[in-house]
Amino acid sequence: MPYFIEVVLPLSLPRPFTYAVNEAEYAFLQPGMRVAVPFGKNKLYTGLVIALHETPPQLYAAKDIHQILDDEPLVTETQIKHWNWIAEYYMCSVGEVYKSALPTGFLLESETIITSQKDFDPVAANLTDDEYLVYEALQTQSALKVGEVVSILNKKTILPVLNRLIAKNAVSLQEEISEKYKPKTIRYVRLQEEFLKEEQLSELLQLLSNAKKQREAVLHYFQLQAKEKKPITVKKLIEAGTTSAVIKSLADKNIFEEYLLEEDRVQFSGSANAGFELSEKQQEAFNSIKQSFEQHTVTLLHGITSSGKTEIYIKLIEECIATGKQALLLLPEIALTTQLIGRFSAYFGNKVAAFHSKYNNNERVETWKQVLQASDKAQVIIGARSALFLPLQNPGLIIIDEEHEQNYKQQDPAPRYHARDAAIILAAYMDAKVLLGSATPSLESYMNVTSGKYGYVELKERFGKVLPPEIVLVDLKDKYKRKQMTGHFSDTMTEEIAETLANGKQVILFQNRRGFSPWVECMTCGHVPQCPQCDVSLTYYKYKNQLRCHYCGYHIANPTHCHKCHSTDISSKGFGTEQIEQELKVLFPEKNSWRMDQDTTRGKHGYEKIIDSFKNKEIDILVGTQMLAKGLHFDNVGLVGILNADNMLYQPDFRAFERAYQMMVQVAGRAGRRDERGKVLIQTYNPLHNVIRQVTEADYVGMFKEQLYERHNFKYPPYFRMVRITLKHKDYEKLKDGALWLYNVLIQHLNIPVLGPEEPAVSRIRNEYIRTIMIKIPLGAALGTTKKSIRRILDSLDAVPQYRSLKVTVNVDPY
Ligand code: ADP
Ligand code: ZN
Ligand code: ZN
Repeated sequence: MPYFIEVVLPLSLPRPFTYAVNEAEYAFLQPGMRVAVPFGKNKLYTGLVIALHETPPQLYAAKDIHQILDDEPLVTETQIKHWNWIAEYYMCSVGEVYKSALPTGFLLESETIITSQKDFDPVAANLTDDEYLVYEALQTQSALKVGEVVSILNKKTILPVLNRLIAKNAVSLQEEISEKYKPKTIRYVRLQEEFLKEEQLSELLQLLSNAKKQREAVLHYFQLQAKEKKPITVKKLIEAGTTSAVIKSLADKNIFEEYLLEEDRVQFSGSANAGFELSEKQQEAFNSIKQSFEQHTVTLLHGITSSGKTEIYIKLIEECIATGKQALLLLPEIALTTQLIGRFSAYFGNKVAAFHSKYNNNERVETWKQVLQASDKAQVIIGARSALFLPLQNPGLIIIDEEHEQNYKQQDPAPRYHARDAAIILAAYMDAKVLLGSATPSLESYMNVTSGKYGYVELKERFGKVLPPEIVLVDLKDKYKRKQMTGHFSDTMTEEIAETLANGKQVILFQNRRGFSPWVECMTCGHVPQCPQCDVSLTYYKYKNQLRCHYCGYHIANPTHCHKCHSTDISSKGFGTEQIEQELKVLFPEKNSWRMDQDTTRGKHGYEKIIDSFKNKEIDILVGTQMLAKGLHFDNVGLVGILNADNMLYQPDFRAFERAYQMMVQVAGRAGRRDERGKVLIQTYNPLHNVIRQVTEADYVGMFKEQLYERHNFKYPPYFRMVRITLKHKDYEKLKDGALWLYNVLIQHLNIPVLGPEEPAVSRIRNEYIRTIMIKIPLGAALGTTKKSIRRILDSLDAVPQYRSLKVTVNVDPY
């Protein structure tokens, strides 16, 4: 009697493959276990068993598996069901979901590259013969493909050998070397507690009367303390005129204490924050959420910025895990995860597990296992969107913080899923509750509230009853006319910044463009330098004296004359964060201005470093792009300035107004948290614009109604679901023909709006031309059937020989 298993491969294949197993294997295997299987020519992959049966495949002869890799399932049956849903809804293959869900450490395949680890001692590690052979090969070759190890060991079952080598830290996967995540730590120094009081100072100085240098160090410390009123770094103290040796001897005498702070601990060191009580309003919201959960799977918590949503999450999670269930908190941004882990660990101790793509393989593998075992260490799970793929056993609560954030949608590669929407499906499968939190909910979620599908709880008071920031508009047209502008700063803006800084508060400035200016223009002939590989103008970077492409990284030295007419009259147009930073250096030369955008946060911990320094008050004015709008918590920001609101409003995107509203309210929300009311200045040419008015009046419902009306009129979500098909090819004509062919077939077979083929705003990237086709599926239409028809039509495109080479991607709910 033959036995078979269905195996999902980590590839973009339309369906699972059938493999043959023997009777013993059949008896042992369960869905959710991994098997090593051959596929294609001499390739080995880690596949996932999803079913067992006795029916041979009809179209091919089933190959034997190489071996079984797990003793028990690594993936739960619910996950398999959920991944199938994702594949079907987002029109990709289950293999793609599987590949993106599992940490690469679980997914060895013949193309995986392994390298040796430095400082590894083969003797101490007690390597077996097989392990040693691999180790030895890596001493002469810098890297090996897993497939090559097969020939080195002259046997097929090599994955266990490699897994053991990884566990022993003898080798690592290449991916791991490029990103190893470690929170940044800073060395600080402080006086031991018994010396903290002023009156002890003379006593202390007396004590040190024979140690002149140490005495000086202590005096420097007090001077710094008085001047800066913030934690003192070892570096600062040394700069003030002491040495690390002196600091060390003071530490030895138990006068000084050195301590390290990790980025995520800065705010939550010690136990002061561990216990807290909800405020009255928070408690009311908490109770309403629990009531709402009795009737609704999903509830929206609409709480203004700084209302203390996180505290409510903590209390809800506490109740959830007390019943023995796991709780999952999703955040839109990895940097926020690091910020919150400290806060959560202070409260829940080591019951908190974190998961995101910057963790290295070992850490991710470990978290996966802890979650799978529902171990004590994985009661509270915090992560970015990919944490949704963890093998949750018994979740009681899934919280999606900042649910409106577009980062929850994965754009590339497949699966192009929306973590919020996929979480709601998962919660339904697992009988868990979902809480969506936001100060500026997405139109979709709010519409689900008005239709009664979601529960709704509002929290309108900032914690500590601090008033929401006062929002003041500055009319740019008027300011330019009266010549009250210096660069891009109105006199009002400059004065407010100066006053805020004088009060010891910090300033955040928002400009949604990076670089010095988005383009340069020849004033004689109008020529604008373009990227030769992409259909965009090049951005000017003054500091580097370069023109750069934001799509492909192409760059050239800033030209001294026009490449077309040789005129030297070249001018830069528009402005980005770099320009603002430079203007600040002139306006406030003695202040420390810094910039946070994609260019300055690139390196490994760029983002964390800047947030750190800003929190530690080493930065006075922070200029940034929308990165600043993402739920960061700073305590000392007195003023938020938006330099130009208009470039957010005029984006070629049906969500532009919704996004502009969200972005402005969120950025504004960074002002005046803890104790004092903050201020927000918005510079704009359109002070009467509806969206600007809605922001200043905090009129979310007004914005919602107006935008919903537009969406209805122009057939956009939430009234229509969109499916975007993107086609790419280096050959312009072929692309044009193929896109038109596809469009015609779609319009013939689907009885719904099909738009295009359109040249997107950037219609060529890295020399590939791009066309898009948009399909709009009305709410009432049969979604599943329509997607199946689309899939069939795409298959038929692939069957046309001259169009086979087109690159086609499908994005469901693309915005
Ligand atoms: P939100 O996420 O709603 O913008 P947070 O949860 O970050 O707001 O809360 C804003 C600030 O108020 C934080 O610094 C937080 O620590 C503090 N806070 C909120 N609620 C409480 C509470 N009940 N007890 C102590 N501090 C609180
Ligand atoms: Zn010119
Ligand atoms: Zn380019």
